[in-house]
Formats: sequence, C-alpha cells, structure tokens
Amino acid sequence: MPGYELIGSDELAEIQDVFANGGVLFRHGFDGLRNNCYKVRQFEQEFSVKMGVQHALAVTSGTAALRVAIAALDIGPGDEVITQSFTFVATVEAIIESRATPVCAEIDTTLNMDPDDLRRRITPRTKAVIVVHMLGTPARLQEIAEICRQHNLVMIEDVAWGCGGNLNAKPLGAWGDIGTFSFDFAKTMTTGEGGMVVFRDEAVWKKAAAWHDHGHENNPAVPRWEDTRSGSGFNYRMMELQGAVGLAQLKKLPGVVEAQRRNREGLWLALCDLPGIEPRNVPAGSYETADALVFLVPDKWAAMRCRQELLAAGLNTKILPEAYTWHFAETWTHMPELVAAHGGNLAAAFPQSRAILSRAVSLPVGVKMAENLPSRARQAVGKAIIP
Ligand SMILES: *Cc1c(COP(=O)(O)O)cnc(C)c1O
Repeated sequence: MPGYELIGSDELAEIQDVFANGGVLFRHGFDGLRNNCYKVRQFEQEFSVKMGVQHALAVTSGTAALRVAIAALDIGPGDEVITQSFTFVATVEAIIESRATPVCAEIDTTLNMDPDDLRRRITPRTKAVIVVHMLGTPARLQEIAEICRQHNLVMIEDVAWGCGGNLNAKPLGAWGDIGTFSFDFAKTMTTGEGGMVVFRDEAVWKKAAAWHDHGHENNPAVPRWEDTRSGSGFNYRMMELQGAVGLAQLKKLPGVVEAQRRNREGLWLALCDLPGIEPRNVPAGSYETADALVFLVPDKWAAMRCRQELLAAGLNTKILPEAYTWHFAETWTHMPELVAAHGGNLAAAFPQSRAILSRAVSLPVGVKMAENLPSRARQAVGKAIIP
C-alpha cells in the first residue's frame, strides 16, 4: 500500500517544475512554451529503463492499459482472450470492451493462473492470454509463456499488483509480449489515476501509441493538426501532472517494495507457526512486491472467523476473504459476455478456484507498520483458528 504513504514534497517539486516551465499540461507539442519540459515522455523513458523493456506508453489507468494492449494486437469480435478467475474485474472488462470473448481459467495454490487449466481452455479462437500477478506474487510465468509459445498466443501480463517485482531477476512486465501497469491510488506506485503499457515489439508499441491518441501518428514532418493516421482510435492520454508525480514515485519504488517485504516478513514470522496455517505457494525465484500477506486456513469458516477477529482487534484484511466479489469471476453475473462464455453458469465454472479462495486470508502490508501489529495479528488469527 504503498506509494500513497510516501506522497509529499518530491511529487510537489516535480509538479512545480511543470508550472515553472510554462505550465503546459498536454504531453505533446507547445514546444515553444515549455522549455523542453516533457514529464510524460520522461516518465515513459525512465519507466522502460527500470522495467528492462524497449518501449513504454503512459495511459490514463490500468484498465485503459489493458484496453490499449488488446487494441494494439487487433483482437476483437470472434477472438477469445483467456485470463484467470481471480483478478480484478478490470481485466475482464477490458476484454469485453474490446468486443472479444472473455474466458477465465482456474487458479492454483499460487492464487494465480493454473497452467494446466489454461491449456484446457485454449480453442482455435484463442488469441491472447492475460496472466495476472495477483496480490503481488508472480504467476508461473515460465510454464505459461511456454504454453503461449506452443499455441502461438500473445502473452500479456497484468502487472497492476506486481510493479517492482520480478521472477529470476527479470522484472514482471518484461516477461510478456506486453505488460500493463496501474498507478491508481491503491497501487504500489501511484499517479492518482494512471497506467503504463510496456512492449517488446516496436510496431505494436507504435500502433498502441497511435490508438490511444485518436490515431495520431505524431508524424514529425507535419504539425499535429495535419498529423497522419492509419486507423481510428480513442483517447487514453496521460497528462503532464500525472507524469510529474510518476517520476517522483518511480524513484521511490524499490524502497517501497523493500519496506513492504521486510514488514511482511515480520508479520509472517508472527503467524507462521500457528496450527493450520499454510503459506501461499510462491514460484521459485520470485521477488514479490508484498503489499499483502496471503495464507490459507483450514476452511472457509476459519477464514471468516479470521476476518471477524482481525476487525474486532482493529485490524483489517485486504480482498480476501471479504472483497471476493470484485475479484472472483464466479460472482460476475453482471457480465453477460462472461456468463455466456462459461455455458451460462458461472457458479459451476471455477470449483478449484473457489475451494482455494474460500479458505484464503490476506492481510494488508504497508511501508509503515506499527511495531505491535504482528503480535496483535497473531493474537487475532490465533483466536480464530485455534479451537
Ligand atoms: C487495479 C487493477 C487494475 C485496474 O487498474 P486501474 O488503474 O484502477 O484502472 C487492473 N487489473 C488488476 C489486477 C488490478 O488490481
């Protein structure tokens, strides 16, 4: 939780820099007014270096990042995109908004996509896979990337929770053909609202850059109002003040992740020897962003008791078990496209995911943690699971 805990004078200085240099709030043009101050452009450059990718495109949200990624790949009506049953609604919304068909795969005990179930859900219409690093833990990327390669599918990583994490020292977001990030106010780094898309392929990046800007190719040979275009698009442009905040937050990202990892370790040490507690299964080589501590308890009643006891002690849970409804596809009966893709009955679609999620508990982890929090959490969880 993250970036917003550390928002302050560095972000303000970056914003003041915009106003000290002409106050141009638009990412493009007005060259004579801005004294070479281009915050969004600089944010994209620094972000791509940090993530070890060739190209980055800033957008207005993590949801927009997913939508732009799908558009850049020319995926639309008749195409299927597979993501996972446990994610935020935004991942599926972006597929629906693209008029493609959303399909969700089961999760396994990593609480991320189950590669075996992914394999079962691939059809001749499948075009892409969106793998999500839920609650900051890397998915089984090597296996999923291999499946995508075998079936000639594009792999997109939804890195909304994984910004600053890595697997085998390779940053999350750099594993896929495309990676999408969210900088909303609850994410590891924030620009208030905002997002980023990173690309391996230059042509796809150029297509995305044009599509997110009404089709503008930003042709340097002509002024913007005479700009060339090869296709239609939309507007998901990030504005300069968001880029300014992003530059300051990006510098803090490694420290935020380190602090969260340290705090989570302290919390886990206080809980791990309680009877019946099982750690989340984490792929070898993971460097997690750790803004939540996830563990499994014996059954769903124990999970519900954990939430009650934590609340009674003035503590909280994060997403599991209480916010299930925004993060588990089984409950998304308000999405007719998803219901139809799963034979009209979501309730029966993800038994394996349900069995795992219903006994999972997740505690929020921040940059700043009260010293007595681990012992208070131990007392509450102990009360909930020791008969
Ligand atoms: C937060 C989130 C998004 C959407 O990001 P916004 O910036 O809030 O639009 C997408 N996917 C996942 C997994 C998220 O957690």
